[in-house]
Amino acid sequence: MPELRQNFFTKEWVIIATERAKRPEDLASHRSPQTVPSFAENCPFCPGNESKTPTEVMRFPANATEPWAIRVIPNKFAALDSATQPTRSLQDVWRRIEGFGFHEVIIDSPDHSVCMAMMRDEQVAGILRVYKERYARLSMDRRINHVTIFKNHGSDAGASQQHPHSQLIATPVIPSQVRHRLHEALAYYDDNGKCMFCHMVEREVDEQTRIVQESEHFVAMEVFASATPFATHIFPLRHMASFGDISATEIADFGRVLRSLLAKLYVGLANPDLNFTIRSGPSDYASARHFHWYVSVIPRLTRVAGFELGSGMFINTVLPEAAAEFLRNVRAEQAVGAGASTV
Ligand SMILES: [Zn+2]
Ligand SMILES: [Zn+2]
Repeated sequence: MPELRQNFFTKEWVIIATERAKRPEDLASHRSPQTVPSFAENCPFCPGNESKTPTEVMRFPANATEPWAIRVIPNKFAALDSATQPTRSLQDVWRRIEGFGFHEVIIDSPDHSVCMAMMRDEQVAGILRVYKERYARLSMDRRINHVTIFKNHGSDAGASQQHPHSQLIATPVIPSQVRHRLHEALAYYDDNGKCMFCHMVEREVDEQTRIVQESEHFVAMEVFASATPFATHIFPLRHMASFGDISATEIADFGRVLRSLLAKLYVGLANPDLNFTIRSGPSDYASARHFHWYVSVIPRLTRVAGFELGSGMFINTVLPEAAAEFLRNVRAEQAVGAGASTV
């Protein structure tokens, strides 16, 4: 029987259409695997082509005499402009803000071919440290209200460059998806006196059916009311409202869990296009008791159709419990072979 499930955070409903259920492996991408070179002469993100990008804002290691492992540059085709000011205007029913903000690209690696799923855990942790540093730096700008850190992997996920990279966009407003969750989280805290995310994570860990993997500081799980197949969340076990609060020990552990999850998706679903986003409270919320940051990983396995666009309600054909079981059983380390043996 089909079933409607409600998202605990957003109160949105989804249809889990078990009648149309596909086996998880049927969703694997069926494109023939490409051989990607580790260097591409025309790629602006490859070493030696640094002059083709805007001036970098950060590099790791910081010492310019050493080859870089990670670089941060302003996006050449930035959605927002850091040189303007967030001047507001309201004319009749038309409210505007001048297009102020920051749009940066984090080049994850000098190697053109190595996606995050195949990196060493330490390289992923290094990228996460760079995220944290840029998040902290841009959050200090009083004109910025929110920083979104995300990755587009593959053309169906919006990536225009094949070279492994992540992005961040810092905006003068709080995006509606975050605002919605903040409202719901505050209402839950008012009613129950505890963080709704901590409560949900505790119950999911007790229940186990949707857990993909647990580590000392993080847990990865399929979403109970997942709008799309294999939507996976990674939560820090310690209550933290802002990603900026993550500790050095937690970053190392987060790097292992994130890479391991990406490797499972890479192997189990044949390198699907995907997006991930760090959903953090604004940095001003660092000590908030009602909000809790997490990562949302969304493989792009299906297309949005008319019903979804018209209703905002999604039909998911894969049971989240089946997706969790499938991912738990993927032995990614043997197939990917690059990371530490931590699964
Ligand atoms: Zn490249
Ligand atoms: Zn919490």
